[in-house]
Amino acid sequence: MIKNIILILALTFFTLTVRPQESDEVSIRYIGHSCFLITTSEGVQILTDPVEFKGYHFPEGIKPDIVTVSHNHIDHNRVDVVGGNPDIIYGCLSNKKVEPIDLVFKNVRIFTVPSYHDPGKHGVNAIFIFDFDDIRIVHLGDLGMALSDDQISAIGNVDFLMIPVGGQFTITVPEANQVVEQLKIRRAVFPMHYKTEAFTDLPYSVDVFLQKKHNVKRINGNEVKFNLKIKPANTEIYVLDYKQDE
Ligand SMILES: [Zn+2]
Repeated sequence: MIKNIILILALTFFTLTVRPQESDEVSIRYIGHSCFLITTSEGVQILTDPVEFKGYHFPEGIKPDIVTVSHNHIDHNRVDVVGGNPDIIYGCLSNKKVEPIDLVFKNVRIFTVPSYHDPGKHGVNAIFIFDFDDIRIVHLGDLGMALSDDQISAIGNVDFLMIPVGGQFTITVPEANQVVEQLKIRRAVFPMHYKTEAFTDLPYSVDVFLQKKHNVKRINGNEVKFNLKIKPANTEIYVLDYKQDE
């Protein structure tokens, strides 16, 4: 009897000590344009708006669990170039309606908030929200105008925000500034969908958005890891280098 108890205790101790340590880290890698690869602390990989367009090339070897598509434009929906066998979540099946998505994949809740790309011209756009590890990541897709009160309350508190800043097909820089003001962003802002060497047709480079901004972190690389136990005192703006995959 005592031997058995000791054995059980020993086994319990063994199981507890060899259990792999859960990471407190989330990783965000920039592929370019509006395409990010998010890896949760439990290793779930979410890819947003896959890009294979003009000078942007989707790298080999990425096999995400989930791919989200904010809307069906060619610079956002190249699911055909993504490796593996991911679940693909289309935010808009037509250009008139955003799909009311709300699902859970492993420890990640994914839901949409409807918005407009450019009303009357390009139709609708899905804002994708990812909740996991007690954080919220919001990818605004090709948002075409500042947020309404309903959208602000549906989006809620944001830890990480991906926001288009290149203008013309999306919000302009002043509107992007307004959206950043509208949302309560606890950790970081990632500008996206701006003029680069890979895509010169947009009016604004990221530098226009960065003017007069503080807490800008230009990363010499395409990936940044955040320890979720550490909260920054102020919201930081991260500029990642999409070219690192070339
Ligand atoms: Zn676009």
